[in-house]
Amino acid sequence: MKRLPPWAKKPLGPASSLHEMKSILRKRNLHTVCESARCPNIGECFTKPTATFMILGDVCTRKCGFCSIDKGRAPLSVDPHEPSNIALTAKELALKHVVITSVTRDDLPRGGAGQFALTIKAIKDNIFGILVEVLTPDFEGDGEALKVVLDARPDIFNHNLETVPSLYSQVRPQADYRRSLQVLKDAKASGVMTKSGIMVGLGETKDEVKEVLRDLFASGCDAVTIGQYLRPTRQNLEVKEYVDPTVFKEYEDYGKAIGLKHVYSGPFVRSSYNAEKLING
Ligand code: SF4
Repeated sequence: MKRLPPWAKKPLGPASSLHEMKSILRKRNLHTVCESARCPNIGECFTKPTATFMILGDVCTRKCGFCSIDKGRAPLSVDPHEPSNIALTAKELALKHVVITSVTRDDLPRGGAGQFALTIKAIKDNIFGILVEVLTPDFEGDGEALKVVLDARPDIFNHNLETVPSLYSQVRPQADYRRSLQVLKDAKASGVMTKSGIMVGLGETKDEVKEVLRDLFASGCDAVTIGQYLRPTRQNLEVKEYVDPTVFKEYEDYGKAIGLKHVYSGPFVRSSYNAEKLING
């Protein structure tokens, strides 16, 4: 197993904000992707007016090689109180920017798009001026499902490509690279700000990453995040490489040079990390 280089180490940050957030979430039967994904930024993010909530339970119907979220047991039934509980929690925490993500629920009608719409609406009806970003699955390419989410008028539509096409069979076996690009293109056609993200260090080449950046630009994507893959558990894919910070800078410069408006590239960059910066700069 590769040794963690100094630039890939990060102190956890204040435990107090972590515990406070966790107790509030438990009280309302809510989930965050931060915990399941063992995100290195968890301590830092919970001190900011931004939070990411994971809807539709914590069991996924897919098996991505990089992800430590529960799979293989029956997904949970949809909680009808989840949208209002998230709105209540966002108000209580005085959040300015909320990211709504989910496990993939290929077992539900329209992949659970309705719960995204209800959650966006509950937050926007209760908190004036709050920014709502959605980080959605691909809904198996179902255009009607996408329309249900976009009609609820999120401020930012995010869908991650996660990696380069040649690695899909290991990293995202139930997803399709072209289908995910089409989801972003269709979302952009509705006029919403779009965003996508990939991880590096899974065995991709620099040329492959640059090709993905060109594809994202061609799909009209406004913002891209590029971060280092970190192995959450021994059941997950090995880290093939700890990418040097100079290479992250090269990707950032290349992305901006081809015309991408916002490119966040660095070892700890994640799709929701510093999400509020995208609109507020
Ligand atoms: S679809 Fe999302 S939640 Fe499900 S295994 Fe893949 S990354 Fe994890």
